[in-house]
Amino acid sequence: MYCPFCNAADTKVIDSRLSHDGHQVRRRRECLVCNERFSSFESAELGLPRVVKRDNTRSAFDPAKLRAGMLKALEKRPITGEQVEAVVLRLVKKLRSSGEREISSRQIGEWVMEELCALDPVAYVRFASVYRSFQDVQAFNQVIEQLKQEISSQKKANDVETKTK
Ligand SMILES: [Zn+2]
Repeated sequence: MYCPFCNAADTKVIDSRLSHDGHQVRRRRECLVCNERFSSFESAELGLPRVVKRDNTRSAFDPAKLRAGMLKALEKRPITGEQVEAVVLRLVKKLRSSGEREISSRQIGEWVMEELCALDPVAYVRFASVYRSFQDVQAFNQVIEQLKQEISSQKKANDVETKTK
């Protein structure tokens, strides 16, 4: 790292310590040329990937939008705010750990549908119908079929669980 005082290229680290919140490392450095001391801070890059929409425009990921879309689908459904928050957090974490710089809105939509499918079948169908903007009855039926399969496989898994208990 260059010295901010004399621009010399040679500086050495004389001390490293973690910041109070544990999210940053503070390094004390000393310039080998002018002997001035300064600090540098290092933190993990935890930026969220940018969202690429269908029309190829990019925008920053907005958790509020994600939440709003889910809440609309969950209107009058017996799902608590905490449950919705848990899903939002899970999805944000997923985005963060993807390590991608860009992610398609389509992929995010699929993830939301997976979550809703497990959370509430009615919300799932609502969300899917808006999201996939069903062109015809066949597309709608496909989603219903998928949902049926999902429910029956969940049921089977539950049955196995209760049997083994
Ligand atoms: Zn210097």
